[in-house]
Amino acid sequence: MSFSDLGLSDAIVRAVADTGYTAPTPIQSQAIPAVLNGGDLLAGAQTGTGKTAGFTLPVLHRLSTDAVGSKLANNTAPRAIRALVLTPTRELAAQVEESVKTYGKHTKLNSAVIFGGVSINPQIKLLKHGVDILVATPGRLLDHMQQGTVNLDKIEILVLDEADRMLDMGFIRDIRKVLAALPPKRQNLLFSATFSDEIKALADGLLDNPKTIEV
Ligand code: AMP
Repeated sequence: MSFSDLGLSDAIVRAVADTGYTAPTPIQSQAIPAVLNGGDLLAGAQTGTGKTAGFTLPVLHRLSTDAVGSKLANNTAPRAIRALVLTPTRELAAQVEESVKTYGKHTKLNSAVIFGGVSINPQIKLLKHGVDILVATPGRLLDHMQQGTVNLDKIEILVLDEADRMLDMGFIRDIRKVLAALPPKRQNLLFSATFSDEIKALADGLLDNPKTIEV
């Protein structure tokens, strides 16, 4: 099994080859086709399984190959945020966005990361410039929503990464506020290492007939 067998575009397969990966990990070989299909996904996966590429690669594929993505010019035309990835910590947010940049380098998509504990002004500037894929921690994203400096009206794909850690850190109310502001018609991906009743309740309300995978 190779990355191109999974249905990923040439631009993405080349970026993966540049990183030196030869074969998809188990979570990748299950998650990638499921996400490419457009449905919701509930994935049980620990850190270290390759879960980041498991959602980043198919999200990049979907956004770069459709009618909007294939017409994008290099960093010029104004663009709307089409995918939002929420993560519990700034470190994870930065890592995920680094992966988006690495795997998306042969596409015309761009990305940004926003998290708390640093000045908000450079983030406002980044968002104004136009972003296709936004990676964020919930608290700082809410700050931007309240200030009117982020527009989530065009979100097509939502990823909750390490959802159990986000709940452990007390982000459930922030997450619910973000969810309430998103367009209802979208693809939702939830990744979690553990499945408490609280996670199950969140997944039940969020996911529509999800494919469930566990590694
Ligand atoms: P993650 O679980 O997403 O934090 O990824 C764990 C590590 O595995 C990261 O350092 C990735 O660079 C690496 N990795 C991800 N996918 C693959 C793959 N298909 N082959 C080899 N290494 C990978």
